[in-house]
Amino acid sequence: MTDIVIPDFVLRMQEEHKNGVSLRNIAKPRNISASFVRNLFIKYGITRNPRTHTRFKIIEGQIRCYNCKTYKPYIDFAPSQVKLFESGRQSTVLCNPCAKYYSHRKRISAMHKICSDKGISFKCVDCNITDPTKLTIAHVGNFSGRMDVYGNYSDNIQFYGAIVSGLRDTLDLTIKCKNHNILDEFNNGFRKVGTTSYDERIRVLKVISLANNLPLVCSKCGIEDLKLLTKAHKNGGGNMENKIRGPHGLNWDIISGRRTVSDLSIECYNCQDN
Ligand SMILES: [Zn+2]
Ligand SMILES: [Zn+2]
Ligand SMILES: [Zn+2]
Repeated sequence: MTDIVIPDFVLRMQEEHKNGVSLRNIAKPRNISASFVRNLFIKYGITRNPRTHTRFKIIEGQIRCYNCKTYKPYIDFAPSQVKLFESGRQSTVLCNPCAKYYSHRKRISAMHKICSDKGISFKCVDCNITDPTKLTIAHVGNFSGRMDVYGNYSDNIQFYGAIVSGLRDTLDLTIKCKNHNILDEFNNGFRKVGTTSYDERIRVLKVISLANNLPLVCSKCGIEDLKLLTKAHKNGGGNMENKIRGPHGLNWDIISGRRTVSDLSIECYNCQDN
């Protein structure tokens, strides 16, 4: 006779839970914690209701963004984040614009930490740009930032978080504008002139320049260095199109003439996206 006898007060909790009362609401009037109720349920082998949190965060193929509280289609979220969210390992998810804003704010705090650690001022160390939207974290010396961020952290946000919390020391980091950071990558050999992807980018720029009668310079600041120029969506939606067609697919649509370019212009990395 090893059957466990479930005490009456636990049976009453089970009954309430069956009727849809959450563990938290069972615990509250009894002045105990929800985890205490959960442990009782585990102890007496009572199965809990399936998690309901996703039921109101996903409706008709749309997900609710935790920050802006609006329902948006799946395409507006990073697929990796949706996977974590749907599997229940992550209880909230941010839409792409909110995630971008959050990452931007984190990057700024991380940059302030680097500045105070190293006693430098908040500007590009190569030029004097101080606009935080144009600044980024650069690695000192011949070291690939991408290898560091994606090799040691799951994404940019984690990398920024490690800097802010002091887990990642800032000796080999500094502040540069996006353009100077890209130039460094060329100087250190992480990007090369004349590669297939370099040529593809230049061909796209030439198509945009010819079709829209634009000079081959940044349309915002006039910078001429081809290494720093990229296509820009005048009305937004660039990330979305990149995601649907893939960056190479989009480039070849442009080069082959399958896609018109009247909504595209030429910008440098500093001016793009701001
Ligand atoms: Zn949002
Ligand atoms: Zn700079
Ligand atoms: Zn520019």
